[in-house]
Amino acid sequence: MAESPARRLRLGMVGGGTGSLIGDSHRIATRLDERYELVAGALDIDPERGKRFAATLGIAPDRAYDDYRQMIEREQARPDGCDLVTVATPNNTHFEIAHALVQGGFNVLCEKPLTTRVEDAFALAKAVRDRDVVFAVMYGYTGYPLVREARAMVAAGELGAVRVVQTEFLHGFMAGPSGQSGAQGGVWRLDPSIQGRSFALADVGTHALFLASFIIGQQVAEVAADLHRFVPGRELDDNAHVLMRFDGGAKGMLWASGVAAGVTHGHRIRVFGERGGLEWHQSRPNELIYLPQNGRPQVIERDAPGLSAASRFRSRISAGHPGGYFEAWANVYSDVADAIAARIAGKPADPLALQFPTVGDGARGVKFVDAALASAQQGGGWVDARV
Ligand code: NAD
Repeated sequence: MAESPARRLRLGMVGGGTGSLIGDSHRIATRLDERYELVAGALDIDPERGKRFAATLGIAPDRAYDDYRQMIEREQARPDGCDLVTVATPNNTHFEIAHALVQGGFNVLCEKPLTTRVEDAFALAKAVRDRDVVFAVMYGYTGYPLVREARAMVAAGELGAVRVVQTEFLHGFMAGPSGQSGAQGGVWRLDPSIQGRSFALADVGTHALFLASFIIGQQVAEVAADLHRFVPGRELDDNAHVLMRFDGGAKGMLWASGVAAGVTHGHRIRVFGERGGLEWHQSRPNELIYLPQNGRPQVIERDAPGLSAASRFRSRISAGHPGGYFEAWANVYSDVADAIAARIAGKPADPLALQFPTVGDGARGVKFVDAALASAQQGGGWVDARV
Protein backbone atom coordinates (compact mmCIF):
# COMPACT_ATOMS: atom_id res chain seq x y z
CA MET A 1 0.00 0.00 0.00
CA ALA A 2 1.32 3.43 -0.87
CA GLU A 3 2.34 5.47 2.14
CA SER A 4 1.02 8.94 2.73
CA PRO A 5 3.01 11.46 0.69
CA ALA A 6 2.35 13.97 3.45
CA ARG A 7 4.83 12.37 5.82
CA ARG A 8 8.39 13.64 6.02
CA LEU A 9 10.73 11.76 3.73
CA ARG A 10 13.42 9.67 5.37
CA LEU A 11 16.83 11.01 4.42
CA GLY A 12 20.17 9.23 4.56
CA MET A 13 23.52 10.85 3.99
CA VAL A 14 26.89 9.55 2.82
CA GLY A 15 29.71 12.00 3.55
CA GLY A 16 29.16 15.51 4.85
CA GLY A 17 30.80 14.60 8.16
CA THR A 18 32.38 16.76 10.86
CA GLY A 19 34.05 19.83 9.44
CA SER A 20 33.15 19.05 5.83
CA LEU A 21 32.69 22.05 3.61
CA ILE A 22 29.28 21.24 2.27
CA GLY A 23 27.56 18.82 4.67
CA ASP A 24 25.85 21.55 6.69
CA SER A 25 24.45 23.21 3.56
CA HIS A 26 22.69 19.97 2.69
CA ARG A 27 21.33 19.45 6.17
CA ILE A 28 20.09 23.02 6.55
CA ALA A 29 18.47 22.92 3.09
CA THR A 30 16.64 19.70 3.91
CA ARG A 31 15.18 21.21 7.08
CA LEU A 32 13.91 24.47 5.62
CA ASP A 33 10.63 23.21 4.19
CA GLU A 34 10.17 20.39 6.72
CA ARG A 35 10.03 17.79 3.98
CA TYR A 36 12.81 15.52 5.31
CA GLU A 37 14.00 13.85 8.46
CA LEU A 38 17.65 12.81 8.64
CA VAL A 39 17.45 9.22 9.85
CA ALA A 40 20.58 7.45 8.63
CA GLY A 41 24.15 8.14 7.68
CA ALA A 42 27.61 6.92 6.78
CA LEU A 43 28.90 10.41 7.30
CA ASP A 44 32.63 10.10 7.39
CA ILE A 45 35.57 8.24 5.93
CA ASP A 46 36.42 7.56 9.60
CA PRO A 47 33.47 5.44 10.82
CA GLU A 48 33.88 6.22 14.51
CA ARG A 49 34.10 9.97 13.92
CA GLY A 50 31.06 9.61 11.66
CA LYS A 51 29.07 7.84 14.35
CA ARG A 52 29.94 10.43 16.98
CA PHE A 53 28.81 13.16 14.63
CA ALA A 54 25.64 11.22 13.72
CA ALA A 55 24.70 11.16 17.40
CA THR A 56 24.90 14.96 17.54
CA LEU A 57 22.50 15.12 14.58
CA GLY A 58 19.94 12.89 16.27
CA ILE A 59 20.58 9.84 14.10
CA ALA A 60 19.83 6.67 16.06
CA PRO A 61 22.95 4.57 16.80
CA ASP A 62 21.65 1.60 14.82
CA ARG A 63 21.36 3.81 11.72
CA ALA A 64 24.83 5.36 11.97
CA TYR A 65 26.76 3.08 9.69
CA ASP A 66 30.40 2.09 9.14
CA ASP A 67 30.18 2.79 5.44
CA TYR A 68 27.76 3.16 2.56
CA ARG A 69 27.71 -0.59 1.83
CA GLN A 70 26.48 -1.39 5.32
CA MET A 71 24.01 1.46 5.03
CA ILE A 72 22.56 0.10 1.78
CA GLU A 73 22.24 -3.44 3.14
CA ARG A 74 20.60 -2.44 6.43
CA GLU A 75 18.37 0.29 5.03
CA GLN A 76 17.11 -2.08 2.34
CA ALA A 77 16.11 -4.55 5.02
CA ARG A 78 14.00 -2.03 6.94
CA PRO A 79 10.34 -1.35 6.20
CA ASP A 80 11.10 2.31 6.90
CA GLY A 81 14.33 2.59 4.88
CA CYS A 82 15.59 5.85 3.38
CA ASP A 83 13.48 7.58 0.72
CA LEU A 84 16.46 9.62 -0.46
CA VAL A 85 20.20 9.40 0.09
CA THR A 86 22.48 12.41 -0.32
CA VAL A 87 26.03 11.76 -1.50
CA ALA A 88 28.36 14.54 -0.28
CA THR A 89 31.76 12.88 -0.50
CA PRO A 90 34.82 13.87 -2.57
CA ASN A 91 34.49 13.51 -6.34
CA ASN A 92 36.34 10.23 -6.91
CA THR A 93 33.85 8.36 -4.70
CA HIS A 94 30.61 9.65 -6.27
CA PHE A 95 30.30 6.97 -8.94
CA GLU A 96 30.94 3.99 -6.71
CA ILE A 97 28.61 5.19 -3.96
CA ALA A 98 25.83 6.62 -6.13
CA HIS A 99 25.85 3.62 -8.48
CA ALA A 100 25.54 1.17 -5.57
CA LEU A 101 22.67 3.23 -4.13
CA VAL A 102 20.86 3.34 -7.47
CA GLN A 103 21.35 -0.39 -7.99
CA GLY A 104 19.92 -0.84 -4.51
CA GLY A 105 16.78 1.04 -5.57
CA PHE A 106 17.43 4.25 -3.62
CA ASN A 107 16.59 7.73 -4.82
CA VAL A 108 19.78 9.81 -4.78
CA LEU A 109 20.86 13.43 -4.61
CA CYS A 110 24.55 13.53 -5.55
CA GLU A 111 27.10 16.29 -5.38
CA LYS A 112 28.78 17.67 -8.47
CA PRO A 113 30.81 16.92 -10.50
CA LEU A 114 28.73 13.78 -10.98
CA THR A 115 31.78 11.57 -11.61
CA THR A 116 35.43 11.98 -12.55
CA ARG A 117 35.15 9.90 -15.75
CA VAL A 118 32.73 10.22 -18.65
CA GLU A 119 32.14 6.47 -18.92
CA ASP A 120 31.12 6.37 -15.25
CA ALA A 121 28.70 9.26 -15.74
CA PHE A 122 27.05 7.46 -18.65
CA ALA A 123 26.91 4.18 -16.70
CA LEU A 124 25.28 5.99 -13.81
CA ALA A 125 22.72 7.63 -16.10
CA LYS A 126 21.91 4.21 -17.56
CA ALA A 127 21.52 2.67 -14.11
CA VAL A 128 19.12 5.47 -13.14
CA ARG A 129 17.04 4.76 -16.25
CA ASP A 130 17.09 1.00 -15.66
CA ARG A 131 16.17 1.22 -11.98
CA ASP A 132 13.78 4.14 -12.53
CA VAL A 133 14.78 6.05 -9.40
CA VAL A 134 14.75 9.80 -8.79
CA PHE A 135 18.28 11.21 -9.15
CA ALA A 136 19.27 14.83 -8.66
CA VAL A 137 22.61 16.64 -8.85
CA MET A 138 23.30 19.57 -6.56
CA TYR A 139 23.71 22.43 -8.98
CA GLY A 140 22.14 24.45 -6.21
CA TYR A 141 22.25 27.85 -7.92
CA THR A 142 19.40 26.83 -10.20
CA GLY A 143 17.21 26.82 -7.11
CA TYR A 144 17.20 30.62 -6.94
CA PRO A 145 13.74 31.90 -7.90
CA LEU A 146 15.17 34.61 -10.17
CA VAL A 147 17.28 32.08 -12.05
CA ARG A 148 14.02 30.26 -12.67
CA GLU A 149 12.47 33.56 -13.71
CA ALA A 150 15.28 34.11 -16.20
CA ARG A 151 14.66 30.65 -17.59
CA ALA A 152 10.93 31.30 -17.86
CA MET A 153 11.53 34.66 -19.60
CA VAL A 154 13.78 33.01 -22.18
CA ALA A 155 11.31 30.15 -22.69
CA ALA A 156 8.48 32.67 -23.18
CA GLY A 157 10.50 34.38 -25.91
CA GLU A 158 10.91 37.67 -24.07
CA LEU A 159 14.49 38.03 -25.32
CA GLY A 160 13.81 36.55 -28.74
CA ALA A 161 16.25 33.86 -29.87
CA VAL A 162 19.25 33.70 -27.56
CA ARG A 163 22.43 34.74 -29.31
CA VAL A 164 25.10 35.06 -26.66
CA VAL A 165 25.65 33.76 -23.14
CA GLN A 166 28.56 34.76 -20.88
CA THR A 167 28.82 32.65 -17.76
CA GLU A 168 31.46 32.65 -15.07
CA PHE A 169 32.33 31.24 -11.68
CA LEU A 170 35.45 32.67 -10.09
CA HIS A 171 37.23 32.68 -6.78
CA GLY A 172 40.73 33.37 -5.61
CA PHE A 173 41.11 30.73 -2.91
CA MET A 174 43.73 28.87 -4.94
CA ALA A 175 45.64 31.97 -6.06
CA GLY A 176 48.50 31.12 -3.73
CA PRO A 177 50.87 28.16 -3.83
CA SER A 178 49.00 25.87 -1.46
CA GLY A 179 45.51 27.35 -1.64
CA GLN A 180 44.33 29.78 0.98
CA SER A 181 40.85 28.58 1.77
CA GLY A 182 41.83 26.77 4.95
CA ALA A 183 38.85 24.52 4.33
CA GLN A 184 39.37 20.77 4.50
CA GLY A 185 37.91 20.47 1.02
CA GLY A 186 40.50 22.85 -0.38
CA VAL A 187 43.31 20.34 -0.18
CA TRP A 188 42.03 17.33 -2.12
CA ARG A 189 40.69 19.54 -4.91
CA LEU A 190 44.21 19.83 -6.30
CA ASP A 191 44.87 16.07 -6.14
CA PRO A 192 43.93 14.43 -9.45
CA SER A 193 43.40 11.04 -7.80
CA ILE A 194 40.50 12.55 -5.79
CA GLN A 195 39.39 15.61 -7.75
CA GLY A 196 39.63 14.08 -11.23
CA ARG A 197 41.34 15.46 -14.34
CA SER A 198 40.31 19.10 -13.87
CA PHE A 199 40.17 21.47 -10.93
CA ALA A 200 38.68 24.84 -11.90
CA LEU A 201 36.54 23.63 -14.76
CA ALA A 202 35.12 20.60 -12.95
CA ASP A 203 34.77 22.24 -9.55
CA VAL A 204 33.12 25.53 -10.46
CA GLY A 205 32.93 25.51 -14.26
CA THR A 206 30.30 22.76 -14.21
CA HIS A 207 28.08 25.08 -12.15
CA ALA A 208 28.58 27.87 -14.68
CA LEU A 209 27.75 25.56 -17.57
CA PHE A 210 24.60 24.20 -15.99
CA LEU A 211 23.39 27.68 -15.08
CA ALA A 212 23.73 28.68 -18.74
CA SER A 213 21.99 25.57 -20.11
CA PHE A 214 19.23 25.87 -17.51
CA ILE A 215 18.45 29.48 -18.38
CA ILE A 216 18.76 29.37 -22.16
CA GLY A 217 17.21 25.91 -22.59
CA GLN A 218 20.01 24.76 -24.89
CA GLN A 219 22.74 22.17 -24.43
CA VAL A 220 26.38 22.71 -25.24
CA ALA A 221 27.31 21.03 -28.52
CA GLU A 222 30.96 21.99 -29.11
CA VAL A 223 33.71 23.56 -27.05
CA ALA A 224 37.08 25.17 -27.68
CA ALA A 225 39.11 25.56 -24.51
CA ASP A 226 42.20 27.16 -23.06
CA LEU A 227 42.99 25.62 -19.68
CA HIS A 228 45.91 26.87 -17.66
CA ARG A 229 47.82 26.24 -14.44
CA PHE A 230 49.03 29.57 -13.15
CA VAL A 231 50.52 28.31 -9.89
CA PRO A 232 53.76 26.38 -10.48
CA GLY A 233 53.76 22.71 -9.51
CA ARG A 234 50.03 22.33 -9.83
CA GLU A 235 48.84 19.25 -11.76
CA LEU A 236 45.36 20.52 -12.61
CA ASP A 237 43.94 23.61 -14.31
CA ASP A 238 43.34 26.54 -11.99
CA ASN A 239 41.89 28.74 -14.73
CA ALA A 240 39.72 27.86 -17.72
CA HIS A 241 38.33 29.80 -20.66
CA VAL A 242 35.89 27.89 -22.84
CA LEU A 243 34.15 29.01 -26.02
CA MET A 244 30.87 27.19 -26.53
CA ARG A 245 28.47 26.52 -29.38
CA PHE A 246 25.02 25.49 -28.18
CA ASP A 247 22.65 23.12 -29.96
CA GLY A 248 20.03 25.85 -30.37
CA GLY A 249 22.42 28.26 -32.10
CA ALA A 250 23.61 30.34 -29.13
CA LYS A 251 27.30 31.15 -28.73
CA GLY A 252 28.87 31.26 -25.30
CA MET A 253 31.94 31.93 -23.22
CA LEU A 254 32.63 30.35 -19.86
CA TRP A 255 35.31 31.45 -17.41
CA ALA A 256 36.04 29.27 -14.41
CA SER A 257 38.85 30.18 -12.08
CA GLY A 258 40.36 29.45 -8.70
CA VAL A 259 43.02 32.12 -9.14
CA ALA A 260 40.88 35.25 -9.53
CA ALA A 261 42.74 36.81 -6.62
CA GLY A 262 40.51 38.77 -4.27
CA VAL A 263 37.27 37.24 -5.51
CA THR A 264 35.35 35.17 -2.98
CA HIS A 265 32.40 33.92 -5.01
CA GLY A 266 32.07 35.48 -8.43
CA HIS A 267 29.24 33.56 -10.03
CA ARG A 268 27.31 35.52 -12.63
CA ILE A 269 25.67 35.13 -16.00
CA ARG A 270 24.66 37.40 -18.87
CA VAL A 271 22.32 36.31 -21.64
CA PHE A 272 21.55 38.31 -24.77
CA GLY A 273 18.83 37.58 -27.29
CA GLU A 274 17.48 39.38 -30.35
CA ARG A 275 15.38 41.76 -28.26
CA GLY A 276 17.18 42.20 -24.98
CA GLY A 277 19.42 40.84 -22.26
CA LEU A 278 19.42 39.46 -18.73
CA GLU A 279 22.08 39.59 -16.04
CA TRP A 280 22.21 37.80 -12.68
CA HIS A 281 24.85 37.70 -9.94
CA GLN A 282 24.84 35.06 -7.25
CA SER A 283 25.97 37.66 -4.72
CA ARG A 284 22.78 39.67 -5.41
CA PRO A 285 20.35 36.83 -5.98
CA ASN A 286 17.18 38.86 -5.40
CA GLU A 287 17.79 41.08 -8.43
CA LEU A 288 17.49 40.05 -12.06
CA ILE A 289 18.60 42.78 -14.44
CA TYR A 290 16.49 42.96 -17.59
CA LEU A 291 17.72 45.06 -20.50
CA PRO A 292 14.99 45.33 -23.13
CA GLN A 293 16.22 46.65 -26.46
CA ASN A 294 14.89 50.22 -26.85
CA GLY A 295 13.31 50.10 -23.39
CA ARG A 296 14.19 51.13 -19.86
CA PRO A 297 16.55 48.78 -18.01
CA GLN A 298 14.69 47.05 -15.20
CA VAL A 299 15.66 45.35 -11.97
CA ILE A 300 13.23 42.50 -11.42
CA GLU A 301 12.69 41.62 -7.79
CA ARG A 302 12.03 38.11 -6.51
CA ASP A 303 8.32 37.40 -6.03
CA ALA A 304 7.29 40.72 -7.60
CA PRO A 305 3.82 40.91 -9.18
CA GLY A 306 3.73 39.52 -12.68
CA LEU A 307 6.54 37.06 -12.28
CA SER A 308 6.24 33.56 -13.72
CA ALA A 309 4.66 30.65 -11.88
CA ALA A 310 8.00 28.86 -12.21
CA SER A 311 9.80 31.34 -9.99
CA ARG A 312 6.92 32.11 -7.62
CA PHE A 313 6.41 28.39 -6.99
CA ARG A 314 9.52 28.31 -4.79
CA SER A 315 9.70 31.91 -3.59
CA ARG A 316 8.61 30.96 -0.05
CA ILE A 317 8.47 34.51 1.32
CA SER A 318 7.01 37.66 -0.19
CA ALA A 319 8.93 40.26 -2.19
CA GLY A 320 11.21 42.62 -0.32
CA HIS A 321 12.53 39.96 2.05
CA PRO A 322 15.86 38.72 0.75
CA GLY A 323 16.05 35.02 0.04
CA GLY A 324 19.45 33.43 -0.31
CA TYR A 325 21.70 30.46 -0.70
CA PHE A 326 20.05 28.06 1.73
CA GLU A 327 16.63 28.81 0.26
CA ALA A 328 17.97 28.02 -3.21
CA TRP A 329 19.31 24.68 -2.04
CA ALA A 330 16.06 24.01 -0.19
CA ASN A 331 14.23 24.56 -3.47
CA VAL A 332 16.22 21.81 -5.13
CA TYR A 333 15.53 19.52 -2.16
CA SER A 334 11.82 20.40 -2.18
CA ASP A 335 11.57 19.73 -5.91
CA VAL A 336 13.10 16.31 -5.26
CA ALA A 337 10.73 15.76 -2.32
CA ASP A 338 7.75 16.51 -4.57
CA ALA A 339 9.03 14.06 -7.18
CA ILE A 340 9.51 11.29 -4.62
CA ALA A 341 6.24 12.00 -2.80
CA ALA A 342 4.36 11.86 -6.11
CA ARG A 343 5.82 8.44 -6.78
CA ILE A 344 4.86 7.24 -3.32
CA ALA A 345 1.34 8.52 -3.89
CA GLY A 346 1.22 7.00 -7.39
CA LYS A 347 0.51 10.39 -8.98
CA PRO A 348 2.39 12.55 -11.49
CA ALA A 349 4.58 15.23 -9.93
CA ASP A 350 3.72 18.90 -10.32
CA PRO A 351 5.62 19.97 -13.49
CA LEU A 352 6.79 23.09 -11.64
CA ALA A 353 8.69 20.82 -9.26
CA LEU A 354 10.51 19.04 -12.05
CA GLN A 355 13.13 21.76 -12.40
CA PHE A 356 15.87 20.05 -10.42
CA PRO A 357 19.13 19.05 -12.16
CA THR A 358 19.04 15.40 -13.21
CA VAL A 359 21.61 12.66 -13.70
CA GLY A 360 21.63 13.60 -17.41
CA ASP A 361 22.56 17.16 -16.48
CA GLY A 362 25.35 15.79 -14.29
CA ALA A 363 26.60 13.59 -17.13
CA ARG A 364 26.58 16.53 -19.53
CA GLY A 365 28.81 18.43 -17.10
CA VAL A 366 31.32 15.58 -16.98
CA LYS A 367 31.32 15.30 -20.78
CA PHE A 368 31.82 19.07 -21.03
CA VAL A 369 34.93 18.87 -18.86
CA ASP A 370 36.24 15.94 -20.86
CA ALA A 371 35.68 17.72 -24.19
CA ALA A 372 37.31 20.91 -22.89
CA LEU A 373 40.36 18.95 -21.72
CA ALA A 374 40.61 17.31 -25.15
CA SER A 375 40.31 20.69 -26.85
CA ALA A 376 42.97 22.27 -24.65
CA GLN A 377 45.33 19.37 -25.30
CA GLN A 378 44.89 19.93 -29.05
CA GLY A 379 45.71 23.60 -28.74
CA GLY A 380 42.16 24.88 -28.49
CA GLY A 381 40.33 23.42 -31.49
CA TRP A 382 36.61 22.66 -31.48
CA VAL A 383 35.59 19.36 -29.84
CA ASP A 384 32.18 17.72 -29.72
CA ALA A 385 30.65 17.94 -26.23
CA ARG A 386 27.28 16.29 -26.93
CA VAL A 387 26.26 13.31 -24.83
P1 NAD B 1 35.15 17.71 2.37
O1 NAD B 1 36.48 17.05 2.17
O2 NAD B 1 35.06 18.99 3.13
O3 NAD B 1 34.15 16.67 3.08
C1 NAD B 1 33.96 15.37 2.60
C2 NAD B 1 33.27 14.53 3.63
O4 NAD B 1 33.03 13.23 3.10
C3 NAD B 1 34.11 14.32 4.91
O5 NAD B 1 33.25 14.34 6.02
C4 NAD B 1 34.70 12.94 4.72
O6 NAD B 1 35.02 12.27 5.94
C5 NAD B 1 33.54 12.25 4.01
N1 NAD B 1 33.92 11.07 3.22
C6 NAD B 1 34.96 10.93 2.37
N2 NAD B 1 34.93 9.72 1.79
C7 NAD B 1 33.85 9.08 2.30
C8 NAD B 1 33.28 7.79 2.10
N3 NAD B 1 33.83 6.92 1.25
N4 NAD B 1 32.18 7.46 2.81
C9 NAD B 1 31.62 8.35 3.66
N5 NAD B 1 32.10 9.57 3.90
C10 NAD B 1 33.21 9.94 3.21
O7 NAD B 1 34.51 17.89 0.92
P2 NAD B 1 33.46 18.98 0.47
O8 NAD B 1 34.16 20.22 0.14
O9 NAD B 1 32.33 19.03 1.44
O10 NAD B 1 32.98 18.38 -0.93
C11 NAD B 1 32.18 17.21 -1.01
C12 NAD B 1 31.53 17.18 -2.39
O11 NAD B 1 30.66 18.28 -2.48
C13 NAD B 1 32.52 17.34 -3.55
O12 NAD B 1 32.14 16.49 -4.61
C14 NAD B 1 32.40 18.78 -3.97
O13 NAD B 1 32.66 19.00 -5.34
C15 NAD B 1 30.95 19.04 -3.66
N6 NAD B 1 30.62 20.45 -3.38
C16 NAD B 1 29.56 20.99 -4.01
C17 NAD B 1 29.18 22.29 -3.79
C18 NAD B 1 27.96 22.83 -4.48
O14 NAD B 1 27.79 24.05 -4.59
N7 NAD B 1 27.06 22.00 -4.95
C19 NAD B 1 29.93 23.09 -2.93
C20 NAD B 1 31.03 22.51 -2.27
C21 NAD B 1 31.36 21.19 -2.50
